[in-house]
Amino acid sequence: MYNNISMSLGEIVLKGRNRGYFENKLNQSLRRIIDDKNLKIYRDRGKVFLDIDKDIDKMVKNISKVFGIVVVSPCVKIESDVDEIKNKVVEYVNFKKKNENVQTFKIQAKRADKTFPVKSMELNNILGGEVLKNIENIKVDVHNPDLIVYVDIRSKTYIYSEKYSGGGGLPVGSNGKGLVLLSGGIDSPVACYQMGKRGVKVDCISFHSYPYTSIRSNEKIKELSDILSVYTGQMKVYFVNILEIYRKIKENCQEKNTTIIARRFMMRISKEIAERDEYDCLITGESLGQVASQTIKSLKVIQNSVDIPILRPLIGNDKTDIIEIARDIDTYETSIKPFDDCCSIFSPENPVTRPTLDKILEDEGNLDVEELIKSTISNSVEIYNTK
Ligand code: ATP
Ligand code: MG
Repeated sequence: MYNNISMSLGEIVLKGRNRGYFENKLNQSLRRIIDDKNLKIYRDRGKVFLDIDKDIDKMVKNISKVFGIVVVSPCVKIESDVDEIKNKVVEYVNFKKKNENVQTFKIQAKRADKTFPVKSMELNNILGGEVLKNIENIKVDVHNPDLIVYVDIRSKTYIYSEKYSGGGGLPVGSNGKGLVLLSGGIDSPVACYQMGKRGVKVDCISFHSYPYTSIRSNEKIKELSDILSVYTGQMKVYFVNILEIYRKIKENCQEKNTTIIARRFMMRISKEIAERDEYDCLITGESLGQVASQTIKSLKVIQNSVDIPILRPLIGNDKTDIIEIARDIDTYETSIKPFDDCCSIFSPENPVTRPTLDKILEDEGNLDVEELIKSTISNSVEIYNTK
């Protein structure tokens, strides 16, 4: 029955003169999930449409993950002609009645095209009457119907009843580029998703200590980034081996400062790569107070290591909320697989929770920071491209 999919855009509508730019980014996102180059995507008065007559369910499901789209509906597209609309609405209600338990209905017509000769209210009455005349055992219920038939009149007319949520937010790439510090935990994949949803074109960087940590932990990161790329589009993951840095910290610094100093190295290396490859910001999965390295004092000392913005979309979220999102976006099951994080191997038993910058700088003074960063970037970066 269906031959088209309609999509309502969210905040893009608000973007005034930049609207064309946002819509362009959205088109790119849609093109990415639509393999078939022959399918036609077009706009009509603020909505986006796709002509498609097979695999509709699968396509709707894919589109429901595209950022920038708020509602997605499979529809029947016809000419904007009163007789044709009458016939199709009857056919549509029949089709629905056959497949679902529909005893009551209501028609909700809307003219986006005000030149259409019949007003919405009048059309509701005409179409409702047609249905009652042609179909048995069905009644109108304007308050709580089993079926609402939307009749959306534009250059063409679209008949539909199902509304599914889209990905929400803004199209990927409409808000700059960010580098996500992706560990194998629950939080950072959610942070990646959240910033992708606000339109940031994201790629990832992940630190490991191979061969201290197994190659399996890198496989886990690849798996997570493959899952995330369904939402964010293809991503690059920079794998960086920081074993040497951990060794040097262990040899030369106080054990309790290990995590903070290592985190400062991660930030500096990420910043160097971000500047070289033109990312506007770093993104982490930090949430205030979750662990010792995420107290406000720790975050302050970590922040001090770089002068690039560090975005922390989960800063005010409870773990339970983060887990809920992780489940929704399908990263949770992968995140909880056991693995040896480079941080957990070197984590001190009693980490500082209230570090001061002076003390950390003093301790860090025992290391050749610049040289360690330089050699790590030139010797130990590998790149993985998501599927
Ligand atoms: P996550 O669940 O994201 O691992 P976490 O609660 O385990 O977070 P931490 O281990 O303190 O928290 O890490 C805080 C943030 O620092 C992470 O969310 C991530 O952005 C970054 N990070 C930590 N370890 C790594 C790593 N090995 N590679 C890349 N980023 C990391
Ligand atoms: Mg972690």
